[in-house]
Amino acid sequence: MERGARGAGTGRFVCAACLNLLVGDIQKLPTLYDDCMGHTSSRPLRVMRNGPRKITTAAPISPAAAEVRTAIRTVLVSWAGLVTDERRLEPPPRDIRALSRFLCRHAEWLAAHPAAGEIVDEIGEITRAARKTAYPNGGGQVPVGDCPNCEGDLVALIRRRDDPLPSEIVCTDFPDHTWPATRWATLARAIQGR
Ligand SMILES: [Zn+2]
Repeated sequence: MERGARGAGTGRFVCAACLNLLVGDIQKLPTLYDDCMGHTSSRPLRVMRNGPRKITTAAPISPAAAEVRTAIRTVLVSWAGLVTDERRLEPPPRDIRALSRFLCRHAEWLAAHPAAGEIVDEIGEITRAARKTAYPNGGGQVPVGDCPNCEGDLVALIRRRDDPLPSEIVCTDFPDHTWPATRWATLARAIQGR
């Protein structure tokens, strides 16, 4: 994933539907990044110290989740770097949300880039990996229908019972179109009324 290696690209054509998927994935990555953190593995990393009997539990994050989070950051930083280099822009802050917003703003430009096929593959791959890590055990996504507020699709993020976060329905296009489980009846009426 050397940035210098990009550019030759696959020359693959990125259609409007792929561009929408790409933008949707990039928008979801900050949430997935957070949700990866929310899941402790059965064997969390433990740091043991000698001396005073004290066991420090490191951040309750599994090695797999840490790896996915690092990969998300690396992929976003790398593609943001390509945009800032080639468009001679100020680099965005290295914050996941800032990187995601930055790449969404330049998604159309990226879709026309010779390396467009690569970004579609990489973002798709990392999104799938993050989803698996964030929502293991089939807790996961169930398609619900069309978003009443936009052209996006709704998916229910079903979380396990021991999950501190509530289940919610989210829109694939806009991260702020979300309905917590307590408002699903209201949402059902909005979908029917559409
Ligand atoms: Zn929506």
